[in-house]
Amino acid sequence: LVEISDVSKSYGAVRVLRDVSLTVQPGEVIALIGPSGSGKSTLLRTINHLETVDSGSVTVDGQYIGYELRSGRLHELPEKNVLERRTQIGIVFQNFNLFPHLTALENVVEAPIALRRATRADAREQAKALLARVGLADKEHHYPRQLSGGQQQRVAIARALALNPKVLLFDEPTSALDPELVGEVLDVIRELSKSGTTLIIVTHEIGFAREVADRVVFLEQGEILEEGTPSQVLSKPRHPRTKDFLRKVL
Ligand code: ATP
Ligand code: MG
Repeated sequence: LVEISDVSKSYGAVRVLRDVSLTVQPGEVIALIGPSGSGKSTLLRTINHLETVDSGSVTVDGQYIGYELRSGRLHELPEKNVLERRTQIGIVFQNFNLFPHLTALENVVEAPIALRRATRADAREQAKALLARVGLADKEHHYPRQLSGGQQQRVAIARALALNPKVLLFDEPTSALDPELVGEVLDVIRELSKSGTTLIIVTHEIGFAREVADRVVFLEQGEILEEGTPSQVLSKPRHPRTKDFLRKVL
């Protein structure tokens, strides 16, 4: 479903991603782990073309998001075409990024209406169902500032689901939360993982990765050093640097 092929990316002289390749199957749950600065966020952002790549390519369901192939070469697409393709990919950030002037319900209906994917009435029905699914049926009319961090993040997840994305990306979805609010967000993600949604989750929650991931990918200095099942990578890491990293975070 997601095909990352030989992606490299530099910021100035710093190579942030080095020939990264990763294939994600439909329904698969990937946990992306690695030290700070290893390129996890950058890799995630190349998937929906919030970052360009210097070389290599990324496709989702066989389609380039930010590029098109013309006479054998990739050409960057204009922003308006990218926006349309990007709707196949949901993303949830560390800091929720809700629209502060919109209620929970309005945050969730905004995209389907703006993109004319649904009538206002249908979008509201669906948004209500999504908010109920993340346990916020009673918070529809609250503004982000009236919600806890955990509740805001659950609204962000509902919003990401509103366009029926083929894959959902999470960038450290719980790391901005107070410890007592982490569980409610992980519960929602766990539920999604069981429902067959394709997920790529950047996380420092190693216990959670072990529980929900089909595959754990360890990134260091822009390279995938190791990948495998949670028990392979987290319990019996082969690479000394994976061992070193796990010793620090566990
Ligand atoms: P963290 O766990 O701290 O979130 P990360 O693995 O997500 O780290 P990235 O945010 O992908 O790491 O950053 C990888 C490297 O790229 C870092 O060295 C970072 O300083 C650099 N970097 C990221 N974004 C930019 C940018 N816009 N301009 C310049 N350098 C950048
Ligand atoms: Mg990051």
